[in-house]
Amino acid sequence: MTTRDECLALDANDPFAPLRDEFILRDGEIYLDGNSLGPVSKGLQRRVSEVIDGEWAQGLVRSWNAAGWMDAPLVLGNRLAPLIGALEDEVLVADTLTLLLAKIIGGSLELRPERHVVITDAVNFHSDLYIVAAMARLAGRDIIVKTIDRDTLDDHLDDDVALVMLTHVDFRTGEMLDMAGITTAVHSVGALMLWDLAHSVGAVTLDVTETDVDFAAGCGYKYLNGGPGAPAFMYVASRWHGVLRNPLPGWLAHARPFDFESTYETAGGMRAYVTSSPSVIALGALDGALEVWARTTMADVRVKSLALTDLFVALVDDFLPGVFELLTPRDHDRRGSQVALRHADGYGVIQALIERGVIGDFRAPDICRFGFTPLYLRYVDVYDAVQVLADVMTSGAYLDGRFSARLAVT
Ligand SMILES: *Cc1c(COP(=O)(O)O)cnc(C)c1O
Repeated sequence: MTTRDECLALDANDPFAPLRDEFILRDGEIYLDGNSLGPVSKGLQRRVSEVIDGEWAQGLVRSWNAAGWMDAPLVLGNRLAPLIGALEDEVLVADTLTLLLAKIIGGSLELRPERHVVITDAVNFHSDLYIVAAMARLAGRDIIVKTIDRDTLDDHLDDDVALVMLTHVDFRTGEMLDMAGITTAVHSVGALMLWDLAHSVGAVTLDVTETDVDFAAGCGYKYLNGGPGAPAFMYVASRWHGVLRNPLPGWLAHARPFDFESTYETAGGMRAYVTSSPSVIALGALDGALEVWARTTMADVRVKSLALTDLFVALVDDFLPGVFELLTPRDHDRRGSQVALRHADGYGVIQALIERGVIGDFRAPDICRFGFTPLYLRYVDVYDAVQVLADVMTSGAYLDGRFSARLAVT
């Protein structure tokens, strides 16, 4: 069994130690919810005040040009691209994830006009399910959305499938899917592949180029720490530029927005997928949050992420044998950067942990979810979190009647 001293020794030799200083973390708290909302970084604070006090307050309307505000969605896309293995000018930062999925789904359905089926995972994130159903209704022709058990995907692939949309790391269980294998299978029947990377970007190594992905999108506010409601990102492989249309074009997706023409003519490249004015302050926040990522590599992040989740699982096995059902695969190739533990009183478990300064979250009906973020989480944090968890379980604190009513955001 790993001891607390061994964890301290691991931290003392951890190349990520200086990066932790870049984050605003509360003393006495262990934050295991960076998969839901990442913390504030000093880079983000610096960049937001630059944008507000410098570019906006001083430059005012001139900053659209002088500070490059109009290009920020594309510049930021290029900064983010290495995190997913995209090439230059294949990533746009804009909107929110659900809206970007809508754009890609709507555009994709036009690319396969003779096909009628869109496939997604029955346990996909609810927003993904709602938006794919809505885009199918809006397509103006018969589209069937099949929500399947993802393990049976091969049985559903045929030449009537237009698009397959899957979330790469399951938001409940933390299971990671085989991006390369699935993308190849989908392409083998001539369908298009859209990956939702909400729980993957900044969490696991990704290579959308190597795996030949058509389209992808993900969040800015989870592992990337861009702030609540941060802009999302979308990836369109360059082979689809000028081919995939934006179903929600606005003036800033026009080839010449400041000609104010009444007829739409699409801009080229990723600019085609813009709709509206960029959210400049929010883009500044995400820009600042991305600074710290330039000081590491996703390969290194992945190594530490697996070490942290391995440690957490081993300590829960040791201190609380048989108390939880582990929903997250033990196999490294199938694990994201979170651990999900099932318990009938999971809501009370999480609330009791939060009261004791260990912040995880709860996903109905019975999942305790813990995110592991190598940039600022220490091995000793994992050790101490499991000690608090053991205390909550053995003392019965999780059964307190105060936890019988749920808060609006769990
Ligand atoms: C977080 C999340 C979303 C929601 O993203 P919004 O930016 O709020 O639209 C959608 N899908 C998945 C898989 C998520 O994890």
